[in-house]
Amino acid sequence: MSDETIFSKIIRQEIPTPLLYQDDLVTAFRDISPRVETHILIVPNKLIPTINDVTEHDELTLGRMITVAKRLAKEEGIDEDGYRLIINCNEHGGQEVFHIHMHLLGGQPLGSMLN
Ligand code: 5GP
Repeated sequence: MSDETIFSKIIRQEIPTPLLYQDDLVTAFRDISPRVETHILIVPNKLIPTINDVTEHDELTLGRMITVAKRLAKEEGIDEDGYRLIINCNEHGGQEVFHIHMHLLGGQPLGSMLN
């Protein structure tokens, strides 16, 4: 598909990237440029460019992204101290790769942007 990003190639392992998790709906791997101690991306296997493109048919996939994030946070040993999940959308949201992905960030205090 012409709109595919590098994430589709990682999901299909055409670009060899160690996978932390993969099932029929989602794939998880470490961010190539980690901003914090633990920085993992959880990505739907199906190409959905932005959150604006999500439909009710994607609800199972989006829910799976959360449960996989929870599972990986525990595996990484960051669940008790805490972590942050982020999905960026379009330019103002800071989205760079147009295949939606959830950032799992932790391993250190993150502060808050919302205080
Ligand atoms: P966005 O800004 O779109 O929410 O985040 C995209 C993320 O993908 C960035 O944190 C960036 O470092 C990561 N990224 C971009 N290209 C690759 C890649 O080829 N492999 C991996 N593992 N991460 C990537």
